[in-house]
Formats: sequence, structure tokens, C-alpha cells
Amino acid sequence: VKKTGRGAFRVFDPAMNLQARDAVRIDAALRQALKAGELHLLYQPIVATADRRLRKVEALVRWHSPTLGSVPPDRFIPVAEESGLVVELGAWVLGEACRQLAAWGPAAGALAVSVNISPRQLTAPGFAAQVRQLLDSHGIAPQRLELELTERVLIDEGQHTREVLAHLSQIGVRISLDDFGTGYSSLSYLTQFRIDTLKIDRSFITDIEHCPRSTNLVTTIVRMGLSLGMELVAEGVETAAQAEALAEMGCHCLQGYVISRPVAADAVPAMVSYGA
Ligand code: C2E
Ligand code: CA
Ligand code: CA
Ligand code: CA
Repeated sequence: VKKTGRGAFRVFDPAMNLQARDAVRIDAALRQALKAGELHLLYQPIVATADRRLRKVEALVRWHSPTLGSVPPDRFIPVAEESGLVVELGAWVLGEACRQLAAWGPAAGALAVSVNISPRQLTAPGFAAQVRQLLDSHGIAPQRLELELTERVLIDEGQHTREVLAHLSQIGVRISLDDFGTGYSSLSYLTQFRIDTLKIDRSFITDIEHCPRSTNLVTTIVRMGLSLGMELVAEGVETAAQAEALAEMGCHCLQGYVISRPVAADAVPAMVSYGA
């Protein structure tokens, strides 16, 4: 411990590992980035399997830091989730996605935008009210906004989570279960909550071309989702063969590099009219 200027102590802890120091550095830089406008969103097309027409886009955050370079969301979202900064970051993402959806205007038709919501953001005070307010102020029909949650959120199932989900349901936004199949083994929450969309995780899609067991597993997930009246989206679809297999299974929508990588906002309107 070193005594610094005004009687404050600064701790130099050799046990504090590189990763933790990294997290502190990322968190501080991200806090600044939010103020300085270093963040932007890309939008990845999600198309109907049948006709490949654009149904929705998933908003994905990007950060180009002048000091750290390009930091991928897989690096900084977990850090922000840990520190709580994700509440502010997530509010920015949600606001920006709604602003953009409104800005696309009639060119976007009935296009929906899907936004990733972190567990801490969902349960932060006033989340549902914030959603309601954004829809109102931008004049967006609720069914054009989809919130992507992970299984982790639903498994926590505190009373508060239940209330927030009920409130969101009542507002009329769509709820999507992201990375489906990677989180937890209990499926009971599928009947406890109103879930509109299941997003089948990329890890299951990767092998369907070559591995019959994967094909069987995805087929089963699709059937289960269909029987529960859910929309099914396959994520991480990278080959034509995967897309074809998913079409045969009856999976409604496709997302992945074989359709399109995430694109800038100004590329979206053309995709609405001509397909991704
Ligand atoms: P995710 O929600 O599962 O998003 C899909 C990720 O897979 C995106 O990476 C996307 O670019 C990538 N991807 C899409 N198609 C393909 C494909 O065909 N092949 C492969 N290999 N990858 C594909 P990205 O943008 O780096 O995001 C990573 C994760 O970061 C996201 O996973 C999500 O969990 C998180 N994330 C991104 N943006 C936000 C955000 O605004 N808020 C929150 N809370 N999390 C976000
Ligand atoms: Ca997602
Ligand atoms: Ca996902
Ligand atoms: Ca994922």
C-alpha cells in the first residue's frame, strides 16, 4: 500500500491477476466510451427460411476504442454485467435500436428489431417502464421490438423477474430465448413464461451437416418449439446445406453468415425490399 497525495491509499495487489486488472481497465474505458459516443450498432438480418425475406434484424453492439482498439462484445459485455455498467450500456443500445427502427421509417415495412438484454438490465428498476416509454416516444408498435433473454434470467425466477416479464408481456413486446439449449437442463420455464421465439444456439447448428445426432437434436428442438407455438430461429447458419436441413425441419427463420454478416444501419432498407 502506498500513501498518495491527500491521504488516500492506493493498493498495489500483486495477487490481483491480469484478468481482473484488464476488467477494471475495460470497465473504466467503457464508461468513457458511453459518454464519448464510441459505441455503435450493427444489424444482422434474420430471414424467413421459406422465401429468404427479411423478418427482423438483431442489434449487435460494436466498440472502437481509441486506446484499446476494437473490443468485441464477448469481452466487454461480461465485464459490464459484473460491474453493473451494463444497465447504462444496455439502455443506450435499446434507445439507439428504437431510434434507428423509427428512422428507417416506412422503408422498413413491418421489420422488427431484436435487442439483447442482459440479466442485470432486465431486473434493474424501471426497465419495463423504459421500454414502454421508448415505444411511445418513437411511435413503434410493440410487436416490432423483440427482447433476447438467456435461460439464466428465467431460471433465477425471482418474484421480481416474474413481474417484469409479465409487465413486458402486457406491453406487447416479443420475448426471445437466446442461445437456447446451452444454459440449463430444466425446461419448465418454457411453460411458465410467455416466450415467443426460440433461438437455437449456433453450437447445435454447426454439426447438422455431418452429425446425425446433431440433426436429431435440432429436429427435436424445432418440434418442441412448434408444438408450443413458438417461432424458431436458427443462429450461426454458415452453409447452404445447413439452411436446407433447417428448412426441411420446419425451422421458421435463419440467421448467420450464409445469409448475411451484421451490417450497418444504412444497408438495411435495401435488404427489406430485395432480401438479404
Ligand atoms: P449472440 O446474442 O449469440 O449474438 C450472435 C453472435 O454470433 C454475434 O457476435 C454475431 O456476429 C455472431 N454470428 C452471427 N452469425 C454467425 C455465423 O454464421 N457464424 C459465426 N461464427 N458467428 C455468427 P457478436 O456481435 O460478436 O456478439 C457476441 C455476443 O455479445 C452476442 O451473442 C451477445 O451475447 C453479446 N452482445 C452483443 N451485442 C450486445 C448488446 O447490445 N447487449 C448485450 N447485453 N449483449 C450483446
Ligand atoms: Ca442474441
Ligand atoms: Ca445467440
Ligand atoms: Ca451466442
